[in-house]
Amino acid sequence: MLLIHCPYCGESRSELEFRWAGEAHIARPENIAEISDEAFAEYFFIRDNTKGIAWERWRHIHGCGRFFNTIRDTVSDKFLLSYKAGLARQPVPGASEPVEGDAA
Ligand SMILES: [Zn+2]
Repeated sequence: MLLIHCPYCGESRSELEFRWAGEAHIARPENIAEISDEAFAEYFFIRDNTKGIAWERWRHIHGCGRFFNTIRDTVSDKFLLSYKAGLARQPVPGASEPVEGDAA
């Protein structure tokens, strides 16, 4: 069973309490009514779908109900970090070099 740590509730809990909510840190364009259809499609549909280290949104749907972000290795399915929504993209714990996609 996969255990996920909710940064609001504390201890790790069963994956059955959570729902994956896609890639984290997708910024909504400020001028969304003015952007082209292609730019909107890029914002709305196109995701990195990373093999390896990925920043993701999750929701504690059967707990506090809140959204939060994680860093998960999509190959091993291991969660490396959970952090509260609204915080900047966090660095990979223990990584001495920035990981691809690890923007500042
Ligand atoms: Zn929670």
